[in-house]
Amino acid sequence: MQSLPTPAEAEALVRRHVEPLPIESRPLAALAGAVLAQSVRAERDQPPFDRVTMDGIAIASEAWRGGQRRFRIAGTQAAGQQPQSLPGETCLEVMTGAVLPPGSDCVIPVERLTVADGWADVDPDVIVEPFANVHTRGLDCREGDMLLARGTRLGAPELAVLASAGLPRASVRTEPRIVIVTTGDELVEPGEPIEAWQVRRSNSCALRGALALRGYGRVAEDHLPDDPQVLRARLGVHLATHDVLVLSGGVSMGRFDHVPCALRDLGVREVLHRVAQRPGKPLWFGIGPAGQSVFGLPGNPVSSLVCLLRYVVAGLEAGAGLASRPVEPVALGAPFRVKPALWYFLPVQLDSNPALGTVALPRPTQGSGDFVSLLGTDGFVELPPGPAEYAAGHVAPFYRW
Ligand code: AMP
Ligand code: MG
Repeated sequence: MQSLPTPAEAEALVRRHVEPLPIESRPLAALAGAVLAQSVRAERDQPPFDRVTMDGIAIASEAWRGGQRRFRIAGTQAAGQQPQSLPGETCLEVMTGAVLPPGSDCVIPVERLTVADGWADVDPDVIVEPFANVHTRGLDCREGDMLLARGTRLGAPELAVLASAGLPRASVRTEPRIVIVTTGDELVEPGEPIEAWQVRRSNSCALRGALALRGYGRVAEDHLPDDPQVLRARLGVHLATHDVLVLSGGVSMGRFDHVPCALRDLGVREVLHRVAQRPGKPLWFGIGPAGQSVFGLPGNPVSSLVCLLRYVVAGLEAGAGLASRPVEPVALGAPFRVKPALWYFLPVQLDSNPALGTVALPRPTQGSGDFVSLLGTDGFVELPPGPAEYAAGHVAPFYRW
């Protein structure tokens, strides 16, 4: 048998084949979490002027060095006011955020002054030196400096920098239109009556939750029977209206696993079918005629969730033009034996260990159908194929639920 790709190889295949999402312009207020499709340079020096950082008085440090300790207050310079010059031998009252008045070169904080009748007496033990309590022009960045590169995800600091560059809008990748399609004749909605031989439809909830926690909110849902005609018709509709299809179930070797065949009939080009991993070996991935990403996740609840986190999230990042994310490494907190000759996704609970820091305690399930045992776990680690025993302290990549 041809050897199957490893999880890393499968992820690389997904990243390589995913098509970039379209670009749109959005106003500043609607940019949180989006991925930049343009670069951003500094509009001006930052700070754009010598900026006062304390409420107090601005003086010439030379006067201080000459022995002057008493200064007549010649006026006030507040934040947002045009700069006024310091008349000789005097001081100006200044506020945080104001321009340092030309002629002065430092600020003495109000806490170190005694102010009466328009005069400021400075505590004799204050240390006065040029640029004390001043944030000098261009210290943080220079006009024209490259601040944000294409492919940057916009979090709080990036949004502040974008606004400071004077941009009211920015070009970003569109949010992907995702549809989660579950398949299986045995599945019944929560809230509906259920027979002893039927199963609750739970994967869509878990998958949608994992996506929502990562900021993907444009997620539709459908449920289809194990019927090739219905599958083909409905998947055709979903391909026409979505960028990413996440299918659960119907990709294994069973007689009712019609998903790969239906997808091929619809012109979805198979890139990947099966990965050398447990759980989740039957994973299917392909690219639709209009560049849609199509993931066929095995239906077992643990399999579908680990495959979503390991491959669908990587595909969504690639579509947005994001670079590979650094994977969090974590050490096992107890030894674990991997039996199959497959990469092993082991659910773990994070704990802190005095010697090793944060560790992952193995919390194996009763199999890929056992999602109840995932309660109390934080994610999974990826262990190399067995048979092998991995000692406590073995460092593995960690993926959070
Ligand atoms: P399949 O991959 O379609 O062969 O499904 C494998 C197992 O996962 C079966 O026992 C299914 O009942 C179960 N399963 C499939 N889809 C779901 C779902 N959406 N929610 C819960 N269990 C599911
Ligand atoms: Mg099924």
